Amino acid sequence: MKPSEMTIEQRLAQVRQRVNDAEQKYGRKTGSVQILAVSKTQPLASLREAQLAGQKAFGENYLQDALPKILGLTQPRPEWHFIGPVQSNKTRDIAENFDWVQSLDRLKIAQRLDQQRPPGLPPLSICLQVNIDNEAEKSGVSPEQVPALAEQLQQLPNLHFRGLMAIPRATSDTVQQRKAFHLLKEIFEQLKSEYPKMDTLSMGMSNDLEAAIAEGATIVRIGTAIFGPRRK
Ligand SMILES: *Cc1c(COP(=O)(O)O)cnc(C)c1O
Repeated sequence: MKPSEMTIEQRLAQVRQRVNDAEQKYGRKTGSVQILAVSKTQPLASLREAQLAGQKAFGENYLQDALPKILGLTQPRPEWHFIGPVQSNKTRDIAENFDWVQSLDRLKIAQRLDQQRPPGLPPLSICLQVNIDNEAEKSGVSPEQVPALAEQLQQLPNLHFRGLMAIPRATSDTVQQRKAFHLLKEIFEQLKSEYPKMDTLSMGMSNDLEAAIAEGATIVRIGTAIFGPRRK
């Protein structure tokens, strides 16, 4: 069957199989890798379909696009991860509506999220986004900046610092894929030696999830392999 003829439920099953196979192949514990369904540009109906098929966590990049879906997809409410660039005028809505921000790369934004997180909610889970290939056009902190920012994040009581996220340069060369993921894993292990409670390494997308799992990913962020091509 061509991917375009498959339902979201079928594609999700296929992605779960890929994750399971990679866990086995690379000696990872079964169930140690979580699938985040990246639903940017996808209509609410598609998210519902994924939710009915058992998907429990969704990632969105654009606040305005995400809010109607967050309001529309309840019972049960899934877990919402913000994974796009965070503008300072959007922090309040993000702090009020999301469970995670994986794309943090500035202290100023962290301070705003901390101040604006509503008191009734648990701390906002946070990953630092690392610009692993030092690409000029990509957001994220450089690997050298991680320790200082990590220490500052520890001071913010309404944020729960969980680990690192990266989007390496796209390549179909699996050796190159693993190199970038391996580098992120090393930065993560250093961080963990300082903060043993770090539990999240978010890396790997539709085309490179196997390489990411081989190198220790705990969350893979999957868009097109679940929902098909983006809509805009
Ligand atoms: C869009 C996006 C993804 C998903 O990419 P696919 O190649 O469609 O799986 C993952 N992470 C981030 C940060 C994204 O913006």
